[in-house]
Amino acid sequence: MTAHLIDGKAFAESFRARIGEAVAGLRGQGVTPGLAVVLVGDNPASQIYVRNKMRQTAEAGMRSFDHTLPATATEAEVLALVAKLNADPDVDGVLVQLPLPPQIDAQRVIEAIDPAKDVDGFHPVNAGRLMTGVPGFVSCTPLGCLLLIKSVRRELAGLDAVVIGRSNIVGKPMGQLLLAQSCTVTIAHSRTRDLADVCRRADILVAAVGRPEMVRGDWVKPGAIVIDVGINRVPNPAAGEGKTRIVGDVAFEEARAVASAITPVPGGVGPMTIACLLRNTLEAACLRRGVPMPAL
Ligand code: NDP
Repeated sequence: MTAHLIDGKAFAESFRARIGEAVAGLRGQGVTPGLAVVLVGDNPASQIYVRNKMRQTAEAGMRSFDHTLPATATEAEVLALVAKLNADPDVDGVLVQLPLPPQIDAQRVIEAIDPAKDVDGFHPVNAGRLMTGVPGFVSCTPLGCLLLIKSVRRELAGLDAVVIGRSNIVGKPMGQLLLAQSCTVTIAHSRTRDLADVCRRADILVAAVGRPEMVRGDWVKPGAIVIDVGINRVPNPAAGEGKTRIVGDVAFEEARAVASAITPVPGGVGPMTIACLLRNTLEAACLRRGVPMPAL
């Protein structure tokens, strides 16, 4: 069997186009969603990510508000900026790019964001809403994973799902989303025993670990849906000395021979994250301004 390739890049493009159409409709009613992004310091990966966010926000017809603070910024300065953005009526979504420099407590900053503007879904209020089945903002990467899973299989009830990774940003919310779809969910982590055996039970296997190609082909149940969240930079000597390439947490070619559907890295989950951020910003704008959320 060679698995169907889940093309996250193409899915994200058409999703963003639908969001753009919905935004155009809202603008006709005098509502322009606005996303504020706060970048602290000069982490190159964060800078690229934030630039992409700002560009895609503008392409979707939303307003973007870009705030860059120096790496020496204090926690009080970041909290003051968040408070200002919470109070700004033009701002529907507030996103503080992680990681933050060590002098700033990221959790305190996340908890300072108005839950109604928490389009990243990291605030404990939104995490709690997800856990209790109440509508709220869902963390963008797991939301994107669920959309990709649903693009190949609509009904997930009763399936065995294994999520490797228990971070607040990916693993835990992914587990909650799959539980809400009535999957039987196992969340695995670094202390899990017999991880390969646990994975072999999975009809849906989501890897969010950060270890290059850790999940081998013989960990994958024949016919499983495999979602690879990992982004790992590894040496690529074939391309020349000092060159690198990006691989996921799954040994792609091995897993592809066994799974029924699989996301590539790059071009799988990655593009969905920003698309879901735009979706959440659109929803925040609708909720704050009392306008129905358009169907996407
Ligand atoms: P974290 O480092 O926060 O979490 C990693 C998780 O993997 C932890 O729960 C850890 O377990 C678990 N883990 C580590 N080693 C093992 C192991 N040997 N066996 C089993 N479990 C293990 O990472 P994130 O959740 O933030 O990100 C995970 C990956 O996804 C990264 O590669 C990251 O770059 C990528 N990512 C991609 C995004 C995208 O847009 N595509 C967005 C966000 C992340 P424990 O808790 O026990 O330490």
